[in-house]
Amino acid sequence: MTEADVSAAIAEAEAWLQENPLEPDGDRDAWLRALVDAGWAAPSWPVEEYGRGLSPKVARATDQVFRAAKVSGWGQDVTNLWAATVIAWAKPELKKQVLRPLLLGEIDMCLLYSEPGAGSDLASVRTAAERDGDEWVVNGQKVWTSGGRQADYAFLITRTDSAQPKHRGMTFFFMPMDQPGVEVRPLRQATGDARFNEVFLTDARVSDANMLGEYNSGWHVLTSALAYERSAMGVTRPRRSAADDAVRDATSEASAPIPDLSLVELAVKRGVSGDPTIRQDLMRLHAWRTLNAWNNQRAKQELAKGTSSPVVSLGKLAMSRMLHFAGSLQGRILGSEAMLGGESHPEAADATYAMLNAFFTSIGGGTDQIQRNIIGERILGLPKEPEVDKGIPFSDVRVS
Ligand SMILES: Cc1cc2nc3c(=O)[nH]c(=O)nc-3n(C[C@H](O)[C@H](O)[C@H](O)COP(=O)(O)OP(=O)(O)OC[C@H]3O[C@@H](n4cnc5c(N)ncnc54)[C@H](O)[C@@H]3O)c2cc1C
Repeated sequence: MTEADVSAAIAEAEAWLQENPLEPDGDRDAWLRALVDAGWAAPSWPVEEYGRGLSPKVARATDQVFRAAKVSGWGQDVTNLWAATVIAWAKPELKKQVLRPLLLGEIDMCLLYSEPGAGSDLASVRTAAERDGDEWVVNGQKVWTSGGRQADYAFLITRTDSAQPKHRGMTFFFMPMDQPGVEVRPLRQATGDARFNEVFLTDARVSDANMLGEYNSGWHVLTSALAYERSAMGVTRPRRSAADDAVRDATSEASAPIPDLSLVELAVKRGVSGDPTIRQDLMRLHAWRTLNAWNNQRAKQELAKGTSSPVVSLGKLAMSRMLHFAGSLQGRILGSEAMLGGESHPEAADATYAMLNAFFTSIGGGTDQIQRNIIGERILGLPKEPEVDKGIPFSDVRVS
């Protein structure tokens, strides 16, 4: 990559934006279609697969053009876990069918990974897929399935050969959810939301053409999809509270000079901005946020090379710590009012939500403890955890 390559790509992106401005009251869907078809949604992908064939570094350099224009839909080669996994592992026909709708957000997806006996240790999944002609028949139970009720398709990990050691006998599918063999039951969370579900699979069917990766090699697909998910979780969060706002821009390339404005504003409003411990913790949060922005830049560079990067575990762990810390700081700013809630105390309800919802990031997508294991083994080079079931056929492994 030369300076000239970067400058040329940035100039092209600017020219495209000038020719295709997104007016405030313009048709956002039509604009997104134009962005995707011009290859700017995922510029590091091949031209024939909705990219522009740019090197990952040049592609990331063009992100600044779209970020500055305050538009969305760009950078999906790093943040769209669904499309990134499909492009890496799907057969050409399936790619043709689903890649563009995934980039346009026209297909709703969910992850059928976790089971009652397989969460952190996903290699213990027991949901079985058996071949039946050109299809696979799936039986088992999944749990914690976010967005399961709305999903059109799922990433599904199954056991296809119990005679193989547990990491080897698994196969990964892109499965349609709208079929008689799929029953989705909502679960209520501590926040009051019901965003995830149990999913019961009874003779559900998926075509062989929808297999991602090879038969019995689902573990490789799963680990790369998990890395994309961690990266996305370390990068973006929906806004639900002032604490979320405080950590939301943790990935912006140039960290904001003003420390975590939403919590600062709350502290000023509540008359506690002179409290030395509140001031100290606002700055602590700001320092973590700035460090995480740099770390996420590192992780993005590595992910853009197409490798699964353990650095994303650092980003996800940091995001989890910041959200717990920001939620509790939001509560401390409010003082005893934080114990109240409901419509008459919206700021307290906001703080309670932030505190409870922080567990989303510290459990979902791999718990904090599992991120620490990954960091220990793959970044710090510490000895691996003992694997008592290594090399043993899955059918002989004792699982709960
Ligand atoms: C909000 C949310 C959304 C989710 N969405 C989805 C989804 O869409 N699809 C999906 O498939 N799953 C989803 N999950 C499930 C999530 O991935 C699992 O909850 C998570 O991987 C932990 O698995 P588990 O709950 O079975 O806990 P367990 O694996 O049973 O872990 C229990 C405790 O033991 C610790 N532990 C386990 N193994 C180790 C180890 N080797 N070293 C150190 N500590 C360990 C864990 O850190 C944890 O504290 C979601 C979870 C949440 C909270």
